[in-house]
Amino acid sequence: MSSAAISELPVLNHGEDGYEERRRSAVWHARTPARFPSAIATPSSVAEVAAAVGYARERGLRVGIRSGGHHAGGLGLHDGQLLIDLSSLTEVAIDQDGRSASVQPGVTGGVLTEALARRGLGFPVPHDPRVALGGYLLSGGFGWNMPSYGPACLSITEVEVVLADGQLVQADHTRNRDLLWAARGGGAGFPGIVTRFRVALHPAPRHMVLSAYGYDLSKTAEVIEWLCELEGELAREVELGLALVTAPDGVRQLVLRAVAFDDSLSGARAGLAPLESCPVIAAAHFRRTFEETTPQAMQAWSASLCPSECRVYGDTFWSDAPASLLPELAIHYASAPARRAIVNNMLARQPVIVPDVRADAAFSIHGRLWTGLWSYWDRPEDDAVNLDWIAATSEPLEASAVGFYVGQSNFELPDRACRSFDAASWDRLQHIRRTTDPQGLFCSYGFPAP
Ligand SMILES: Cc1cc2nc3c(=O)[nH]c(=O)nc-3n(C[C@H](O)[C@H](O)[C@H](O)COP(=O)(O)OP(=O)(O)OC[C@H]3O[C@@H](n4cnc5c(N)ncnc54)[C@H](O)[C@@H]3O)c2cc1C
Repeated sequence: MSSAAISELPVLNHGEDGYEERRRSAVWHARTPARFPSAIATPSSVAEVAAAVGYARERGLRVGIRSGGHHAGGLGLHDGQLLIDLSSLTEVAIDQDGRSASVQPGVTGGVLTEALARRGLGFPVPHDPRVALGGYLLSGGFGWNMPSYGPACLSITEVEVVLADGQLVQADHTRNRDLLWAARGGGAGFPGIVTRFRVALHPAPRHMVLSAYGYDLSKTAEVIEWLCELEGELAREVELGLALVTAPDGVRQLVLRAVAFDDSLSGARAGLAPLESCPVIAAAHFRRTFEETTPQAMQAWSASLCPSECRVYGDTFWSDAPASLLPELAIHYASAPARRAIVNNMLARQPVIVPDVRADAAFSIHGRLWTGLWSYWDRPEDDAVNLDWIAATSEPLEASAVGFYVGQSNFELPDRACRSFDAASWDRLQHIRRTTDPQGLFCSYGFPAP
């Protein structure tokens, strides 16, 4: 590493002007954890990332990593460590003929979506445009058209990585295969800093069509029972979401959202037609059906549900019991203290990992229902009531959990990390961590005890 890179590396020490602002920006919402790195480095080149790793090693600091800061628990923040903030690494290059993209970790989902839309190319881009690709790709990446494309991490074909000793290595199907495996879903357990991903792209379906239905919470059992039966008949290109949300007029409801992807408009609309067979459709509060939409419009809608100026708590669960779980969650949702609380559910057709995608990945756990439990509130004095509601609502989710999503799990709770993987994958990930980063330079999922 050139000494120029080290001397030019921007580093803010704890207590210096600008430190607190940058520390807070390491977490995308307003409830920043009380964990204070010794220093924060903001490299703007791969050489500076390697310099930052050397800087940490020389001072005996462990390393926390931030790409976009969208892990709700502020996973990059650890007491006394060096936080390496990768948000300035934002190069993106599309190889149209080779149908691949090279992206740096600070690139946001919105930027990639725009770049692909201009070229008629598709990828399971994040539902929310603000999420950075660094953590998203490493965690799994549940994006638009995932039932068809599979989780985004399975599209990673190559990663460029700065290791604990400062070495820059490439990993693909022939070189450093363990690192490629770990990058495909290992999340914060990845034992290095990914400075570039190469991902495979798809031809984008020409049309994206949306149907959405708002049902009274009391109809949840009927809707989910019908949907579980219907699910197997729907085309793979139909993505199903079920959210417990509060409408602007204050009405709490179950919103069924289905998006179909197809090269023909009539084909996409036909994919959504079965949703008109809901036995309680006549009682729907609202129906918006067969509307043509775009990934950008759907991302803007997703972002509108997740205001970053709020205090936030989030956790996620995989379960196999949608029919019994959803009605119970609806009862809890009726008493959510925050108007902007949301229980987001994705009904995943089995298998989530589509058969024609190589499942050579750390990503290894999923169930039939993915649930994201979130509350958004404004005032610190409302923390307790919101956290109590989350704890109570988590109970049925915990009881039926078959695993967790490493991208959004609350790692302050026990066993979350290992239960985000099947047993063999967890063991292999730990082995790769021990051999690649034997000194444990890179912080992982866990936080030191308070
Ligand atoms: C509003 C919102 C919407 C979301 N929508 C989706 C969605 O649609 N689909 C989905 O799958 N997930 C979604 N997520 C979850 C999100 O993908 C994960 O939390 C992901 O980790 C965020 O990436 P990040 O880089 O912004 O996170 P960060 O908080 O910056 O990173 C989290 C951790 O990942 C590791 N990491 C990040 N970058 C690197 C790197 N370059 N090298 C090595 N390790 C790294 C580090 O351990 C880091 O601490 C959403 C989250 C939020 C808050």
